[in-house]
Amino acid sequence: MSEWRNWAGDQRCRPAAVSRPSTVAEVSALAAAAAASGGTLKAVGAGHSFTDIALTNGTQLKLDGISGLLSVDREAKLATLAGGTRLHEVPALLAPYGLAMENLGDIDRQSISGAISTGTHGTGLKFGGIATQVRALTLVTGTGEVLHCSAVENADVFAVARVGLGALGIITSVTLQCVDAFMLHAVEQPEPLVSVLESLPGRWGAGDHFEFYWFPHTQTALTKANTRLAPGSLPPGVGPLSTARHVVDDVLVSNKLFSTLCTVSGKVPAAIPAINRTAVKLTGNREFGDASHKVFATERTTRFREMEYAVPLEEVPAVLGGLEAMIERRGLQISFPVEVRCAAADNIALSTASGRESGYIAVHQHIKSNPFEYFRAAEEIFRAHGGRPHWGKWHFLQSKDFEGLYPDLEKFCKVRDVLDPKRVFSNAYLDRVLP
Ligand SMILES: Cc1cc2nc3c(=O)[nH]c(=O)nc-3n(C[C@H](O)[C@H](O)[C@H](O)COP(=O)(O)OP(=O)(O)OC[C@H]3O[C@@H](n4cnc5c(N)ncnc54)[C@H](O)[C@@H]3O)c2cc1C
Repeated sequence: MSEWRNWAGDQRCRPAAVSRPSTVAEVSALAAAAAASGGTLKAVGAGHSFTDIALTNGTQLKLDGISGLLSVDREAKLATLAGGTRLHEVPALLAPYGLAMENLGDIDRQSISGAISTGTHGTGLKFGGIATQVRALTLVTGTGEVLHCSAVENADVFAVARVGLGALGIITSVTLQCVDAFMLHAVEQPEPLVSVLESLPGRWGAGDHFEFYWFPHTQTALTKANTRLAPGSLPPGVGPLSTARHVVDDVLVSNKLFSTLCTVSGKVPAAIPAINRTAVKLTGNREFGDASHKVFATERTTRFREMEYAVPLEEVPAVLGGLEAMIERRGLQISFPVEVRCAAADNIALSTASGRESGYIAVHQHIKSNPFEYFRAAEEIFRAHGGRPHWGKWHFLQSKDFEGLYPDLEKFCKVRDVLDPKRVFSNAYLDRVLP
């Protein structure tokens, strides 16, 4: 079989077979056959995880044939999507009903199932990760059974399966609680890091979707505040980014410029602080408005590696202080900004925001740079502040390290034992992180 690679290109595997089912019955037969033969089955979404979570040397399952809108309850604002649906397809599917997804991350290339399985999130203290939008799931378990779950049906499974790490079953449908379609008014500007950190508690709470990027070697943060508005109610003079501005800002400046700078700075690390100061000047300072999905999600053309941890919200300033001191002490030259976001607490067993309001802090390195000294040192700081790693982004934790991090880990494992007794969905990642 040919080699499979993730988006960043550094996680690779050679599945024994690739299957492209187009019905739930086919998925069920594949799971039953794997259980009977002692084989393994691994669904892959868009391959946008940075970890080896989607790798397999068993049968790889591509669900592009199980995709699209299955049903809508307009009154309850519930939409059921087939498990292989990509997030970027969702706005057009929901548009005829005047609905939208409540919140999104930075990109929309992922599959709905892959996104929820790793706890993908955006920003905003009034909002949880994408998995909190889920009201029901259909799973094909490790015995081939087709199982529906929701708060009222198989509730013990539902409590853990929304962030299931691909360990509990193949997700064939996802019912989302949607909201009425809305616009976002975006204000992006550079600000002194110190004043951003001082005003953080108020800003997290006051706005709808606040985040910022801190450029190492500078004292500047680029802040992004998105405010939710009803369609047609953007302030006068505020509209979508022109294609030219969009291209210049998002593609050339935020991505291509970084790529060029990273390539250059990979060779001349000493130039990075000056380059970061230039990047800060070139990016930011814009105000625009558009349909929610067009503002939430942007294009990422530069390949990088990323580590992201969720920490208790109040720990964010201390973690950033720790990162800054660590970078200076070790003499690291870091060309990618550190991204800082937040999310509401939720009640999903392995959600990184389970039981606590969370600040998300992400460190990145260009794919051509060796990230490991930076990531390992950053991880020490995140862990010292009670951090939980994003399941789809670089981390070096093993099962013993998760003890105490998730109060409901045992519940998750018990459900796993029932749904996948023969470990049909196992791979090296799950063997490493789960007890
Ligand atoms: C450029 C970039 C930007 C990103 N931005 C964000 C962000 O803003 N916020 C954030 O939180 N994360 C972000 N991520 C991480 C990304 O959202 C997650 O890694 C997500 O899981 C990727 O979705 P995917 O469809 O590619 O899943 P994959 O990486 O293909 O798979 C992830 C897991 O889901 C499982 N899975 C996939 N489909 C199914 C299914 N049908 N049934 C059961 N299990 C399944 C896989 O087996 C695997 O365990 C980003 C990643 C990249 C590369």
